[in-house]
Amino acid sequence: MSIRIGQGWDSHAFEAGVKLRIGGLTLPHPEGLAGHSDGDVLLHAITDALLGAVAAGDIGSFFPPGDPRWKNADSAIFLNLALEEIMNAGYRIVNLDTTLVLAAPKIGPIAFEMRERVAELLSVDLSRVSIKAKTPEGMNLDHVAQAYAIVLIEKVEDPDELKSMSAVIESQKQLEDVVENLLSEVHGISPRRRMVVPTFDTEDIT
Ligand SMILES: [Zn+2]
Repeated sequence: MSIRIGQGWDSHAFEAGVKLRIGGLTLPHPEGLAGHSDGDVLLHAITDALLGAVAAGDIGSFFPPGDPRWKNADSAIFLNLALEEIMNAGYRIVNLDTTLVLAAPKIGPIAFEMRERVAELLSVDLSRVSIKAKTPEGMNLDHVAQAYAIVLIEKVEDPDELKSMSAVIESQKQLEDVVENLLSEVHGISPRRRMVVPTFDTEDIT
């Protein structure tokens, strides 16, 4: 199979006194998204789309409910782990399309910056990342932010290319140790050699 597709969805409620983190950016807003981690609804949806594309479970299977390590965690950690899963399965991202649904703040003015940040976190060209935003008209959901993500991935035929992808991911040092430990914990053996054994846990506390 040379191409695969993955889909992810997430939602978080707005809460006063919390920093608003969406797409790896901190946005000026009186409320943030409540969650065990930093509540980054977009990065969570993208993480699930990536994991789904290689049938590697979901965000809840890697980051179990209530684990104190992920209290207020930077969701870039989750995304990095999902990238590792894609790479270990021998795939790379073709493109990612996302939709944010929230009443405020307006995403339009910062959508470009958000795309740049997400592309940087995924180590892909900006042209491969799309971020769209809508308001939840008629849904009575002004207190909630939702994110939808769809990702297409393709098999990497050249092993050298996988090596260079790996080097890019490993250059994000502060994330790498966490991700490596986690992969070992979840799969029980060395992350680079393990078999992927999907486990599914629909509870998303992140
Ligand atoms: Zn979430």
